[in-house]
Amino acid sequence: MSKAVIVGGGITGLAAAFRLQTIAPNIEVTLVEASDRWGGKIGTTCRDGFVIESGPDCFLSRKPRGTGLCEELGIADQLVGRDPDHAHTFVLRHGALHPLPAGLTGMIPTNLEALTQSTLLSAAGSARVAQETALSPEPAGEDESVASFITRRLGREAFENLVEPLMGGIYAGQASRLSLAATFPQLRQLELEHGSLLKGLLHRPPGAASSYPPFASFPGGMQTLVDALVARLQGVTLLLNTSVSRIAHSTEGYELDFGSGGNACAGSHRQADAVILTTPAFVSAPLVRELDGALAQALAEIPYASSALVNLVFNENEVPDLNGYGYVIPLAEARQALACTWTSRKWRDRAPRGQVLLRVYIGRYGQDDVTGYDDDRLLAIARDELRETLDISVTSASHHIFRYPQGIPQYNLGHLERVTGIRDHLASHPGLFMAGAMFNGVGIPDCMASGEAAAEAVLDRCVKSRAV
Ligand code: FAD
Repeated sequence: MSKAVIVGGGITGLAAAFRLQTIAPNIEVTLVEASDRWGGKIGTTCRDGFVIESGPDCFLSRKPRGTGLCEELGIADQLVGRDPDHAHTFVLRHGALHPLPAGLTGMIPTNLEALTQSTLLSAAGSARVAQETALSPEPAGEDESVASFITRRLGREAFENLVEPLMGGIYAGQASRLSLAATFPQLRQLELEHGSLLKGLLHRPPGAASSYPPFASFPGGMQTLVDALVARLQGVTLLLNTSVSRIAHSTEGYELDFGSGGNACAGSHRQADAVILTTPAFVSAPLVRELDGALAQALAEIPYASSALVNLVFNENEVPDLNGYGYVIPLAEARQALACTWTSRKWRDRAPRGQVLLRVYIGRYGQDDVTGYDDDRLLAIARDELRETLDISVTSASHHIFRYPQGIPQYNLGHLERVTGIRDHLASHPGLFMAGAMFNGVGIPDCMASGEAAAEAVLDRCVKSRAV
């Protein structure tokens, strides 16, 4: 019987294990996770009537594998959307909150009338957006940054006030470094195909209506997804507290060393015909160094952004009436915070009656690594942000802080070439696969799809090398 080991029990590894168990019941699958819990960056704490996300709070249903996997797990009927009673999102600009203009397609404004009425852009800024349809397209060429593309097509104001802060909420990145081809290739495609971004978006055939909310979560938070996956992995050997410390070639294919993790497997080895690494690039790099130094080097070159999330609880009668999902903060505002989510307005039943739960995101790529700050310093940044923007100066009733050192991979200029280089190196190690947020999308559905594709590649490999 073939043996496969999946390294990393985040959503990528869990999705890979589930797919492999489903399509190849004859392959012996082991899922190895260094920490004492499953889910990686996904995690929810439910306590005293609060539902507190440690990382992601939803996923996009437009990307099919998110809802697709939920359907396979039988939990799609539990999916909930954001609270429609508070359907407003704001942008902080020049110290004031401005509602996002209606008619955004993704991050791009397509309702020019709504844009004209918005306080977020000046009349000249809106007029510049409207001129986009008359601009000639740039011929196909080098990779371009998101900042360069959006400024070129829609003008500096639309970039700084609208697109940059929305994009910052996804990558915690610097738009001047992020590769358009790696992050939003469809925008460049529209320019090339229609001569204009706006023309392309306006003439796009309407997508099929989805029965799911565009931003989907669960009443009990994103942990529901992780728990459902783990519960269905009955055919997989699940090892928590087990850290893979080295991967080498062996007669069977690969030998994995399990480092000290305080459990029965510590210090042992495991043979495998196939391995899927779903660990972040900077973790995978030293694991494969002995196998392939150039592969390790290519992995080490993928940069990551670090973030801290400060959740604060207030008594409802001590804070202003917040009507919306929260706000994003442009880089141009020069704040330490990136965004603030009004969690108990965005989602129903996330805080007990009479209390509100807010979450401040701190940290951007290219700035100080805030995950090295102690709790007091992070709390001070969060409180300053809430005081300056929302006029909240009372002390929070309680707080919960989560840190993500090197949490989000940055698809900076040249990312696609880096990924191609990694894939090329991997091709010379049959049976070794990689998946996860560093490749083709940082969102949860992208990670699931990436893990599932790796599982299919494992089956293919095992079928080719011997009967499974
Ligand atoms: P991870 O979750 O990082 O899992 C990797 C696992 O490998 C970890 O569990 C780790 O402990 C384990 N590991 C590490 N080293 C070893 C080792 N040596 N041996 C064994 N195991 C090891 N996406 C969305 O779609 N929606 C959101 O709202 C959203 N918000 C986000 C907010 C934050 C703050 C962050 C950081 C990300 C957010 N994302 C969001 C992105 C998304 O959460 C991640 O891209 C995704 O969860 C990554 O999953 P993964 O399984 O690839 O990696």
